[in-house]
Amino acid sequence: MQIAAPAEAASPGIARVALDVPQDRLFDYLATGLVEDDIGRRVEVPFGRRRQIGVLIELAAASALPAESLKPLGAVDRRTPPLPAELLALARFAADYYQHPLGAVLASLLPPALRRAAAPRTQAVEAYALTEAGELGIGELPARAVARIALARRLRAGPLARTALSEGERRCLREWLARGWVEAVASAPAPFPGATQAESPTLTEEQAAVLAELEAAPPGYSATLLHGVTGSGKTELYLRRVASVLAQGGQALVLVPEIHLTPQLGERFAARFPDRRLVALHSGLNDGERRAAWLQALQGRADVLLGTRLAVFAPLPRLGLIVVDEEHDSAYKQMEGMRYSARDVAVWRAKARGVPVLLGSATPALESWRNAEAGRYRLLSLARRANAKAELPAVRLIDSRADRPKQGLTSGLLTALGACLQRGEQSLVFINRRGYAPTLLCNGCGHVFPCPRCTAHLVLHRERGNYRLVCHHCGLTARPPEACPECGGLDLRAAGHGTQRVEETIAEHFPEARILRIDRDTAGRKGAFAAMRERVEAREVDILVGTQIVAKGHDFPHLTLVGVLGADHALISPDFRASERLFAQLMQVAGRAGRAERAGEVLIQTAYPRHPLYQSLLRHDYAGFAAATLKERRGADAPPFVSQALLRAEAGAEEAAMGFLLAAREAGLRLDMGVTLFDPVPALMARVANRYRAQLLAQCGARARLQDFLKAWLAGVRELPGKGVRWSVDVDPVDY
Ligand code: ADP
Ligand code: ZN
Repeated sequence: MQIAAPAEAASPGIARVALDVPQDRLFDYLATGLVEDDIGRRVEVPFGRRRQIGVLIELAAASALPAESLKPLGAVDRRTPPLPAELLALARFAADYYQHPLGAVLASLLPPALRRAAAPRTQAVEAYALTEAGELGIGELPARAVARIALARRLRAGPLARTALSEGERRCLREWLARGWVEAVASAPAPFPGATQAESPTLTEEQAAVLAELEAAPPGYSATLLHGVTGSGKTELYLRRVASVLAQGGQALVLVPEIHLTPQLGERFAARFPDRRLVALHSGLNDGERRAAWLQALQGRADVLLGTRLAVFAPLPRLGLIVVDEEHDSAYKQMEGMRYSARDVAVWRAKARGVPVLLGSATPALESWRNAEAGRYRLLSLARRANAKAELPAVRLIDSRADRPKQGLTSGLLTALGACLQRGEQSLVFINRRGYAPTLLCNGCGHVFPCPRCTAHLVLHRERGNYRLVCHHCGLTARPPEACPECGGLDLRAAGHGTQRVEETIAEHFPEARILRIDRDTAGRKGAFAAMRERVEAREVDILVGTQIVAKGHDFPHLTLVGVLGADHALISPDFRASERLFAQLMQVAGRAGRAERAGEVLIQTAYPRHPLYQSLLRHDYAGFAAATLKERRGADAPPFVSQALLRAEAGAEEAAMGFLLAAREAGLRLDMGVTLFDPVPALMARVANRYRAQLLAQCGARARLQDFLKAWLAGVRELPGKGVRWSVDVDPVDY
């Protein structure tokens, strides 16, 4: 990147710049030669003793500050197009709504490589990307330049890595580089290599009806909630909508919760639109890749941007459609910094841009379901699987009070696993706890081993025969003691079950079975999950043991049985959203069974088979579950019927955090704006790594009133003394 000095021309004016600093205001600098069209450009400015990168937000004739205190603006980046006005407006909206400084919002939406001052000038050429000039130039290549045309065609599909080029091709590209047809980029994002072109299937009647409805919407903003059971063909409809946006010259933004866990979606897009530029944007990219992807979006060269939550803030000058797949997924919520919901930002952005937004899920967030009921979103449904032969799996409950589990598994489930193995089909045992056992327990005195730094038990792990105690919150690890530190007893036992122990038990029962465990410990590394998926698809695995990682959007065609362990925990959780999450998770994991021609079966071990949640699940009845749960929420004055914001504080001592929140509450009550302020309480995880955490909930029936209150309140909260206290605000919190 090259940063040019501002031209010396017109009379000096004031440049008002947003900077990534905790103060929520713009900073004034002396500048000459800037014009309105420069708004949105990145600028370098002196700040304190450092130089910082900021974004030019306004030009003014004069500053309220005395002229002698103003410093001159540094370099202006004219190589990168300015951030479009639409994006600046979106950032301003997010800053306002989520109570976060504008400069910090802008910094977080820039790729890391563009946040830093004076990017390294001499970057090694790792890849070549086509420029606009190149786009025109290669169109004029003579027909006999066969090799060059082939190279150009490959470039059109996205940047090419140097390592993927022959010597001749490199020579040609050096020539094109000199001509300005291509530019050197740090690396080539090749999001979904090897996708082969795929034709679109004939839509089912149900799909065709929904597509007709989607197409019948008048142009401009519309929000649609597409509720469709797993395998009902929602993705096929996204592809159709994206195709028509591309045909009209638009860009499509497709958001997914987790890109590494859903590579099949990317492959399907790549296969459907082989001539289009599909760009992936997510935090798993390195700085160079992320910068390249972001710039392709900004320059309008990406046709489809497929990304995780951060991509909702990507610049897209020709944006024509936003799709939010699995819109209920909690991965759309950013949990630190600006705590935004990418789903909600997507809806606002679509509205501001006047484009349709399509939210899809088999188990919509209750917020979205409620919005549909209230007429704010249009609800369209797909009730049947697209593949007529792939029926929804039969769900059965195993009463674990009658069929007592041994080593965590009921005889009913073991029998089913054995039969599945006999048939040569695959099964999945789902348990949402990694490790060997949730705790180590002294059988003499009942002592369990707490993490010395957190409000949590240490989890027992077992690797190659060795046991370790691990804290899942702060990472502390310890060797299990020989004797109980409380009573000296030697009878220490693993209590409960995690994936490792279930794997061990299943191996004992079915020594001939090929077992694969998929959890964060085995699939966490980059590429590990993809390799595992390939093994499953190649039928090199009989029984999968896995956490929710397996549940998300994967097609395992030979999987016909799913067993679920440990689901009851969520029913007794103090978090009122736990049952909503459990239902979504179980529907999703059930959706893995019987995706192809063979019918699937889901067996859930539970001590509460009559629980309404399980009863709805038996009937695949999301609507029934949603209605019952919304009724409870309404009765309890809980979201989505009220709006909430959570003020969190953490400090080295509990009194400091609580004292700060008590003072904040006093300040809030004095405002008397009709917002309920609950008493400050310790967080569910009250201590993590020796930091005490407490929180204060603000709640109001009217979102706008809560917003007004937060503005006034936080201005006061910022002035509160709070030595050693770190605090943050979370608007629309999803975890407490
Ligand atoms: P969802 O996104 O709702 O889970 P998908 O779009 O992935 O559903 O469709 C599920 C499966 O059915 C996929 O394997 C897909 O290729 C197939 N499919 C989707 N629509 C059709 C159709 N109209 N005809 C045949 N197969 C289809
Ligand atoms: Zn800990």
